[in-house]
Amino acid sequence: MNFDNFPSCANMNNDDNRHSLHLTIVIPCFNEEATLNYTTDALISHLQSLVNSNQTAIDNFSILFVDDGSIDNTWEKICSIASSAKSDIKGIKLSRNVGQQNAIIAGLEHAIEYSDAIITLDADLQDDVNAITEMVEKFQDGCDIVIGIRKNRNSDSFLKKHTANLFYNLMKNTHTPVIPNHAEFRLLSKRAVKHLLEYPERNVFLRGIIPSMGFHSATVYYDRNSRKYGKSKYPLGQMLNFAVEGITSFSIRPIRSIFLIGIISLFLTMSVGIYVLIAILLGRTYPGWASLILSIWFLGSLILVALGIIGEYIGKIYMEVKSRPRYFIESTVNSIKK
Ligand code: UDP
Ligand code: MG
Repeated sequence: MNFDNFPSCANMNNDDNRHSLHLTIVIPCFNEEATLNYTTDALISHLQSLVNSNQTAIDNFSILFVDDGSIDNTWEKICSIASSAKSDIKGIKLSRNVGQQNAIIAGLEHAIEYSDAIITLDADLQDDVNAITEMVEKFQDGCDIVIGIRKNRNSDSFLKKHTANLFYNLMKNTHTPVIPNHAEFRLLSKRAVKHLLEYPERNVFLRGIIPSMGFHSATVYYDRNSRKYGKSKYPLGQMLNFAVEGITSFSIRPIRSIFLIGIISLFLTMSVGIYVLIAILLGRTYPGWASLILSIWFLGSLILVALGIIGEYIGKIYMEVKSRPRYFIESTVNSIKK
């Protein structure tokens, strides 16, 4: 799939609702107390100037914080921001940590009620809020999905940069429809969100699902900054988890590759068989401890790898058939507009 050249969007989201578009920014937060003041101020100032400038048809906005079971004072912070805000600030608190992807889904499910377009954004504002204007313009040009793509990875650590490259290569080789260097910064129209919420799966991988949904789509490029406050919630272990999650929830190529490995080792075994037969005919046989033990290890590890891959899929089926709720909302907060 080539994501570089999305067809240009027909002018559809523009006409009828010209003066009444409501934009909501959905922000998943896990232990983000340190950054929330900065994030709220920066967002309000950008969105308010967007509304005032009449550059777009957005005439009001909300910011919806989803507290993903934080164990610091994130929820208290959200409530205090909401109580003193002059803008429309909402918050929902999930009953436990369900992960960034499910926290975003919770936010979308809540925000779809009152929004014409929703932008998902990380709490640390590493993604450039200035790209929001272009996203909204593309939405008004008729795009249902506008994907933010970072121009480079200069703000990443050495480890993060290289693991991310490995992640995207793996994704590409397993035919997972993921767009390189796209994080969770994107705009979705009400219609796109409605259809996204029809996906019943529990192993959600939004970066794969959203580009595969179709609809008029566009991309916006921006510079990604370093995190100003707080720490990253994605250490190496979490990133590996995320990569496995992404690949196995989208691609059956790994499971197919087991068949290929089986065929190749069958050919290898046949070649070794021919070699052994010739050796017997020429009377050159020796007690074959080394080859025997090597074969046992080789085949043993092949079998284990194969079982591991199959296990990953069976694990997924297990989680899906249980169809457990993705999250529970414990409390909500809503700023009173002054
Ligand atoms: N996040 C979340 N639940 C989690 C982990 C992270 O809601 O279990 C949120 C986090 O608060 C942030 C976003 O996901 O808003 C991205 O996390 P982070 O900035 O730590 O990731 P990085 O930019 O380091 O990849
Ligand atoms: Mg971040």
